[in-house]
Amino acid sequence: MKRVFDCWEGRFFCVSLKSTTEQFRRLAHLSPAFPQIPQLFLIPTLTHDSLMAPYFYHHLQGDIDNLVAEISKHDNNIEYTLDPSIRNAKSNTLHSPASNQETPLAVFYPTSTQETSIVLRACNERRIAVTAFSGGTSLGGALTSTRGGGVCISFERMQRIVALHEDDLDIVVQPGLGWVELNEQIRDKGLFFPVDPAPGAKIGGMVW
Ligand SMILES: Cc1cc2nc3c(=O)[nH]c(=O)nc-3n(C[C@H](O)[C@H](O)[C@H](O)COP(=O)(O)OP(=O)(O)OC[C@H]3O[C@@H](n4cnc5c(N)ncnc54)[C@H](O)[C@@H]3O)c2cc1C
Repeated sequence: MKRVFDCWEGRFFCVSLKSTTEQFRRLAHLSPAFPQIPQLFLIPTLTHDSLMAPYFYHHLQGDIDNLVAEISKHDNNIEYTLDPSIRNAKSNTLHSPASNQETPLAVFYPTSTQETSIVLRACNERRIAVTAFSGGTSLGGALTSTRGGGVCISFERMQRIVALHEDDLDIVVQPGLGWVELNEQIRDKGLFFPVDPAPGAKIGGMVW
């Protein structure tokens, strides 16, 4: 009890998200130190409900057209497709089925981190959901566009090793590089990446 009292006098507070205005009032009544509490303590109450406010997505065809127009403005010429069979193949795979409503409305193929950021920023600003695709070997619906469409970012144009630090056995790769291809490229150096989830799996999907 003494310890708690010391903390109180030292004005160390643990602010719980469940704190309510009523609790603040009670504290004010119990301690004369309350008026000296730092301003930070008086932030508006955050409740579970306010944290879980509904998030609306904009997945009408006009939203996707607008997105494509925005991304096409950049000099990078980021490749994309609206082809139905390719869109379907990015969510409805051999290992994991998805319905028409769970298929992305466009597929983008960035070639760098910068291009990936351009697509993600444009989607975020428009509230368009994004599903990433690397090797497509995942099970259990991991590639399903569960928010009723949205877009897919496919990493098949990003398959490079960016940096290999042999001394500390650290390697930086793009997400579309497969573990099999990685091992082929580092074999000559006597190195080996031992993780093997399935043939065709890529690093992006493996570290997700
Ligand atoms: C025959 C078989 C055996 C398997 N055995 C195993 C096993 O032993 N152990 C195991 O763990 N798994 C296993 N798997 C499942 C699967 O192979 C792994 O989950 C694998 O890691 C998926 O990699 P992928 O590149 O195919 O990812 P994907 O299928 O392309 O994607 C997997 C998930 O990661 C997300 N994702 C993809 N790329 C990115 C990215 N760049 N950034 C963020 N998110 C991304 C996707 O949206 C998706 O949700 C097996 C699958 C098969 C078909």
